[in-house]
Amino acid sequence: MYADRITSLPPYLFAAIDRAKENAIKNGVDVIDLGVGDPDMPTPPHIIDALHRSAQNPERHRYPSYTGMLSFREAASGWYKKTFNVSLDPASEVLALIGSKEGLAHIPLAFLNPGDIALVPDPAYPVYKIGTIFAGGVPHIMPLSAENGFLPDLDAIPDDVAGRARLIFLNYPNNPTAAVADPSFFREVVDFAHEHDIIVVHDNPYSEMTFDGYRAPSLLSTPGAMEVGIEMHSLSKTYNMTGWRIGFALGNAEILSGLGKIKTNIDSGAFEAVQEAGITALTGPQDCIADMRRVYTKRRALLLRGLHALGIDAAAPKATFYVWAPVPDGYTSISFADELLDKRGIVATPGVGFGEYGEGYVRFSMTSSTDRIQEAVERMHEL
Ligand SMILES: *Cc1c(COP(=O)(O)O)cnc(C)c1O
Repeated sequence: MYADRITSLPPYLFAAIDRAKENAIKNGVDVIDLGVGDPDMPTPPHIIDALHRSAQNPERHRYPSYTGMLSFREAASGWYKKTFNVSLDPASEVLALIGSKEGLAHIPLAFLNPGDIALVPDPAYPVYKIGTIFAGGVPHIMPLSAENGFLPDLDAIPDDVAGRARLIFLNYPNNPTAAVADPSFFREVVDFAHEHDIIVVHDNPYSEMTFDGYRAPSLLSTPGAMEVGIEMHSLSKTYNMTGWRIGFALGNAEILSGLGKIKTNIDSGAFEAVQEAGITALTGPQDCIADMRRVYTKRRALLLRGLHALGIDAAAPKATFYVWAPVPDGYTSISFADELLDKRGIVATPGVGFGEYGEGYVRFSMTSSTDRIQEAVERMHEL
C-alpha cells in the first residue's frame, strides 16, 4: 500500500518509547519524562499578546507570501546583526520557514539529484538523513565521537564521496550530544565546502540556549561562508514556541532561492499573525532568554548530581537543554533506558535512536519542570 520511501524507513524508535511510557503510566507508575526535546515553559506573554492583536486583523487572514513577510525577514536579519554581528539583506538573504524542520526536510529536494550524496552526522536529528532519502539522495554518515568532541572528522571523508556530495548538514550547539563547535571548526568546514563545491546547511536552533557565559558562533560569521552556506534558526527553543511553527533560514541568496522554489510548490508559508508574533519575539524584550538560561542552569546542576549518583560521569553541557550521558558498563542504550523506566519511572532517550553511533549513550532532556527533575534526581539516589 505504501511507497518504498515509507516502507524503507528505519523503525521509529520514538514510537516504541512512547508505548513503553504509556504502559508504565497504565500500570500506575508516576512517570517523569526526560525524553522529549520540547520546552515545558510557556511562550512569553508579550508574544502571545502580539498574536492576539495580529489575529484580529483581517489582512493577516489571507495567504502569506512564500518568502515570508518582509517585516518578519527584517526582524530576523536585525536579530542576526544584534546577536552575531552579521549583516544580511532581508529581501534576498532571509527566508521564513514553517519551523526549521520544514526547511531541513525540503532543502535536499532543491539540491540533490537521485544518487547525489549528502553528508550527514550520526548521531543526529533524524530529519537530515530522512530528508535526503526522501529526495532520492544517498546519506553518507559522518560519525560523531567523544574523542573528536562530537565534531565530524572531515579528513575521514573519502575524496570520491566528497566529490559526489552536494550538501553537508551540521548542528552546533548539537542535539543530541550537547557539543559545541568553535569558529575554527567552521573555518575548516567552509574551506572543505569551497574545495569540493558543497552546500553547508547549519541547523542552529540552540544558539541562545547557552550557559556559563558561553556564546555560540554562527556559521555565517566565518569568512567565505556566505558563498557556500545557509543557517537555519528557529523560534521554537529560544522563545518556547515549538507549537507555533516559525523559523527562518539565512545566508547565500542563490541557495535560499532554491529552497524557496521547493516551498513555493509545496507549502504556502507561515500564518502572518504568527510571523507578527515572531517579530515581537525577535525585536521585543529579550529578558525571557536570560530567564530561560537561569532555569536550565539550575536544572543542569540537579540532573548532573543525579547522574553522578547513578555512577554516570556526564559532562556539564555548555549549551542546549540536553545531557548526553554514557551508559554504565554492561548496558546498551536501550537496555539502560528500559531499566531507568522500569526501576525509577524515568524516561530518557536511547542514543541509538539518533543513529548507530549514538549507541552507548542516553539523552536526558531538561524540559520537565524543575520540581519533576528534582524528583527524578531523588529517584536516581535510591538504590
Ligand atoms: C528542535 C530542533 C529543530 C526543530 O525546530 P523547529 O523549528 O521546531 O522545526 C531542528 N533541529 C534540531 C537539531 C532540533 O533539536
